[in-house]
Amino acid sequence: MRIEDMIMNKFTCSRCGHTECNVKEVAMSGTGLSKVFDIEHNHYLFVSCTHCGIVEVYDPDVLRGHKSGKLGTVMDILFGG
Ligand SMILES: [Zn+2]
Repeated sequence: MRIEDMIMNKFTCSRCGHTECNVKEVAMSGTGLSKVFDIEHNHYLFVSCTHCGIVEVYDPDVLRGHKSGKLGTVMDILFGG
C-alpha cells in the first residue's frame, strides 16, 4: 500500500476532526528558498484537510523507513488510530 493511501485511510484532522484529506507529494527542486535551506532533491507529503484546509507536512522517507508492520503503528500515533 502506498504511503499516500495509508495516510488517506488513517487521516483525522488534528484541528476539526474531519477524516478526508488530499495528499500531494511535492518535490523540492534546488532553486530559490529550497537551495537556501539545502533541501533540494527531497520529497515531502503535504496533507491538507478538505474541511478546514490545515496542511501538515510529512517526510515520506521517514515513513517508508519503518517496516510494514510498524508503519501502521506510526500512523496510529500520528492520527490517533
Ligand atoms: Zn480540518
